[in-house]
Amino acid sequence: MSWRTQNKTLQILEAAEKGRYGVLAAIVYNVEHITAMVRAAENRRSPLILQLFPSSLIQTPSLVYAATAAAKTASVPISIHLDHAQDADQIQYVADHLPVDSVMVDMSHYEEEENLAKTKALREYCHARGISVEAETGRIEGGEDGIMDTGDLAGILTKEDEVEKFIAAGVDFLAPSVGNVHGDYPPQGPYLDMERLQNIFQAMNGRARLVLHGTNDFSPELTKACIEAGVTKVNVNKLVLDPWHEYTRANAQKPLTQLMAEGMDVLTASMKRWMDIVGSSGQVQSHMEKGSIYNQYPSDDP
Ligand SMILES: [Zn+2]
Repeated sequence: MSWRTQNKTLQILEAAEKGRYGVLAAIVYNVEHITAMVRAAENRRSPLILQLFPSSLIQTPSLVYAATAAAKTASVPISIHLDHAQDADQIQYVADHLPVDSVMVDMSHYEEEENLAKTKALREYCHARGISVEAETGRIEGGEDGIMDTGDLAGILTKEDEVEKFIAAGVDFLAPSVGNVHGDYPPQGPYLDMERLQNIFQAMNGRARLVLHGTNDFSPELTKACIEAGVTKVNVNKLVLDPWHEYTRANAQKPLTQLMAEGMDVLTASMKRWMDIVGSSGQVQSHMEKGSIYNQYPSDDP
């Protein structure tokens, strides 16, 4: 299918699986986030996935267009992904009207059979419009700023036989539940079933890419271990945004443009650090001739 060779999220993650590195899929809430993250990708010659929550499409409807414009003008591969889309009508609207490369069709709040049936139907809808699809097997517990909490629904670890069913449903990216949770971990930190993660990757056998959700509080070592186990799409939110949150809270009295500029520098540094950790730094081999508006702001720091 020709659309697959044009789909940016597919291309970015297939290259990552071949090269055995991870790619940050970072949640953005505003234009400073987009700008700082794209600057980091340019500086590191790294691919990047910019993610929006469905709530952003309502709260700041122009943000997806800002992200798309940034991705288009960047000299490294950057794709736009809609994370945790849980409403079938909204998914169809997005597929018909918005410039996204991929969507997480998250039907994990339904039981397995219904989850699969809805995922398959929406996957077909998205593929027909050139959009690649991520789905969640099992159920990842918790909530994040901008997505619905699973509330009383218990987390369900992904079983190996489910992998086959989701592959048969035609999804491109699979987000398993292996002890990872959304939001913050207990004081002892995250504990993942690494054997289950490895078995899932093996069962996928190159037919889809492996996605990691719930990375708050992850250490560089644990993140690298997940990539070694086969993860290519590394979803990040607070993990990379926390230094920016801390900076803006502590400096809210500064003039707005100064606060924005310094905050973006903090976030760019945070992104560069995590691009180095996941191994995506330097992976964009061919230096494209195309100029980039982000190159007007080169950053000297390592
Ligand atoms: Zn998630």
